[in-house]
Order: sequence, then structure tokens, then C-alpha cells
Amino acid sequence: MTIAFVGLGIMGSPMAANLVAAGHAVTGFDVSAARVDELVARGGKGASSVAEAVTGADVVITMLPDSPQVEQVAPDVVEHGRQGLLYLDMSTIRPETSRWVAGLARARGIRALDAPVSGGERGAVDGTLSIMVGGAAEDVEAARPVLGALGTTIVHVGPAGAGQTVKAANQLVVGGIYGLVAEAIVLLEASGVDPAAGLDVLAGGLAGSRILDLKRHTMIKREFAPGFRIDLHHKDMGIAVAAAREAGVSLPLTGQVAQLVAAARAQGHGSLDHSALLKVIERLNS
Ligand code: NAD
Repeated sequence: MTIAFVGLGIMGSPMAANLVAAGHAVTGFDVSAARVDELVARGGKGASSVAEAVTGADVVITMLPDSPQVEQVAPDVVEHGRQGLLYLDMSTIRPETSRWVAGLARARGIRALDAPVSGGERGAVDGTLSIMVGGAAEDVEAARPVLGALGTTIVHVGPAGAGQTVKAANQLVVGGIYGLVAEAIVLLEASGVDPAAGLDVLAGGLAGSRILDLKRHTMIKREFAPGFRIDLHHKDMGIAVAAAREAGVSLPLTGQVAQLVAAARAQGHGSLDHSALLKVIERLNS
């Protein structure tokens, strides 16, 4: 298939490369020319605008930081995309923005899906992302061959916007686990217990998690290169808190995690990995 890929950052770049490797003709655009050059080096084609990338494509994928960037790019996709185009926005954004995109697309005969992902940079590189898809069932089926090159768990979770609501739930869980792993490290170290040995045991028992598996060693060594930036997790906690407000439910732990992530950002750690939540818990104790 001919695929246009807009937003070639930490996630988009390896995802686009996986689509090339799966045999698709991929044309990429990013506001950063260096990102486009990287895709060209991996066998894709470069475009100098969204309009150029999208023209003639069977599928368009956007992987952008936040709602404002999607609001900027989506009208161009819809204007220059062909009738029947499949438009997969895989960014993590507000559910109401995804519903707006779906309406905009539908009015022009374009099939839009919200398809945010979980699994981080590792999952993007390995093609093992979890993908939560909102939209019409027949459009999800049409998108499966493309999504299958990017992820291993692909679930249709409901109508437009539902993918983003599931992603908000994912992010509140991930943030909460990071906060608790950080507290475990602070407790172990303050008690004179080797945190590496302690967390090895946790990882093998009921407290085990993907986060413990992938991040406990770097957290103990205080290595916080992103990965997933605190700034983006701050955005996602805002989405989760707003979604809870819209649904009329109280999520007290989510509120606390949102404040800890906000503190990490306020302390100047916005460009570090979200495992740098450890720095906030340490600061509370020093
Ligand atoms: P990133 O900042 O590395 O990449 C975003 C890319 O979009 C950048 O290269 C930027 O130059 C480009 N861009 C911005 N505005 C643009 C525009 N108007 N037109 C074209 N390109 C534009 O971010 P990322 O880590 O790749 O995350 C992308 C999305 O995926 C975010 O919504 C994030 O929340 C989500 N996500 C990230 C991870 C992760 O581990 N990094 C995991 C799951 C989901």
C-alpha cells in the first residue's frame, strides 16, 4: 500500500521504518527535515509538506505530540486525501479531538480511526505495540494489515474517541506504577537494603510488571534518557483527569499521580523519561 506518515519522532520514526520493512511504499513528512532524511535512509520517500505526503496515499498515519498539532494537520489530510482514504491518527490526544477529526473526515468521504499505542519506543522498534482503536468496525478491519506491521495487540475498543479513552486509562496506570516503583526504591535505599536485589524479587512476584522488567535497572542507576518524556506524560495525565471529569467519576490516585508528574515538570525534568518521577519522590525526602 501507499502510506503517508506524518510525525517521525521517537515513535513515528521506527513505526514508519517497520512499514517500509513490511513492503509498503511510505512517504514521510515531519517539521524537522532531519527526521525525514532518516526515513529516506531507511528506504522511504521524503515529502516537504503534509499535502505532498498525503496526495495519492491509500493510508495516512499521523503520530504527533498533542491535540493542537493534530488539529493543525488533520484539515490538510482531509483536504488532500483521496475518497475512501483510511486516516489513522496514532497520537495520544483528547477523545473529543479524535471525535472532531472523525467528523471532519466523514464529511469528505474519508475513514478516520483513533489508534493510540502503548509499548513505548521499544515496542515501536520491535513492532510489538498494543494498539487501541476507536471507530467503525469495518474500517478497523480494513486497517488491520497496516496495524499488524506495527503492533501485536490490536483491539477495537469502541466508536471514535474510545481508543483515546482507553489510552488515558493506560497512562494513569503507567504513571501510578512508576510512582510506586520510585517509592519502593527510596524505601529500600533509606533502609540500607540493596534496591537491585529487592526489585529483582518484586519483579518475580505479584508486584511484577513490564515497568519493573524494563526500567528497574536504569531507575536504580538514575539513567533517565527518554523513552517517554515527562512533558508528554503531563499532557496525558491532563487528558485522564479531564476524561474523568467528563465521565463524572472521582479518581483520587489519578489526581495524585497527575500532581507528581506536574512536580517533575516544574522541577525542570520535562525532557527526561517518565521514570524520572523517582527524582520527585527523592526530593520529597531530602
Ligand atoms: P516526539 O516529540 O518524539 O515526535 C513527534 C514528532 O512530530 C516530532 O518529530 C515533531 O517534529 C513532529 N511534529 C510536530 N508537529 C508537527 C507538524 N505540525 N507536522 C509534522 N510533524 C510535526 O514524540 P513521540 O514520543 O514520538 O510521541 C508521539 C505521540 O505518541 C505522542 O502523542 C505521545 O504521547 C505518543 N506516545 C509516545 C510514546 C513514547 O514512548 N515515546 C509511547 C506511546 C505513545
